Amino acid sequence: MILFVGAGPGDIELITVKGMKALNEADCVIYAGSLVNPRIIDAYCKKDVTVYNSAKMCLDEVIDVMIKMEAEGKKVVRLHTGDPSIYGAIREQMDRLIEHKIEFDVIPGVSSFVAAASRLKEEFTLPSVSQTIIITRLPGRTGSGEGGKLEELAKHKASMAIFLSVQSIGNVIEKLKKSYSDNTPVAVVYKATWEDEKIVRGTLIDIEEKVHKASISRFAQILVGDFMADKYSLSKLYDKGFSHMYRSPDAFEIVQ
Ligand code: SAH
Repeated sequence: MILFVGAGPGDIELITVKGMKALNEADCVIYAGSLVNPRIIDAYCKKDVTVYNSAKMCLDEVIDVMIKMEAEGKKVVRLHTGDPSIYGAIREQMDRLIEHKIEFDVIPGVSSFVAAASRLKEEFTLPSVSQTIIITRLPGRTGSGEGGKLEELAKHKASMAIFLSVQSIGNVIEKLKKSYSDNTPVAVVYKATWEDEKIVRGTLIDIEEKVHKASISRFAQILVGDFMADKYSLSKLYDKGFSHMYRSPDAFEIVQ
């Protein structure tokens, strides 16, 4: 059994309890390079665990290690940054394991886009502002083949989390400006929840310069949208006059 585990964004306490237990028991960990905090392995793995850094391996090599360890009856954890289902390239690994009839499971993790929101103390979904979050990236070297999409997505004026793109912040801003107004808030969070985290806030007008001044050129989330501005409506859910299945409008009870 191979376990794909989300390591969370960086802070080693932001892994799930299930993920931590999987690391406790692992004989072998293959972790995904620079954005998995190596302290997570020191903190949760056995002393004699075998560790591979997948940044230096190709898909075949990763799969070969998995097959070999599995054949020896070893417990393997494939440790991905944030949540494995987002830009994790796990599909191609899972498909290969299916071909080899090797069982696997996936344990989710705290993705960096929600970690970034937590560090900013912001809420992506605000009544009368946005009820939609778009997760995207600029097309990259990995051939996502979706050039031009960011302009299209910007038309929704939703809350946006842009991964893997801070190295081209100028290009991102130019595309966003076609739909969002110039004073739309933008926050760039470098290595959210790590010790060397950096947060830069601005608008579509000034964020590019601020990001350059802060020397941020990788490992960052670009969050965009009026959810970071001042105006919103109060939630109906907690409105005094709003009753629903679990709450009568005029009484609350202590549950425990
Ligand atoms: N699966 C990961 C994303 C992997 S792609 C997740 O769920 O977060 C790698 C990109 O994710 C980085 O280029 C950056 O845009 C973002 N990222 C990952 N960890 C981050 C962190 N701690 N702070 C800010 N951005 C991060």
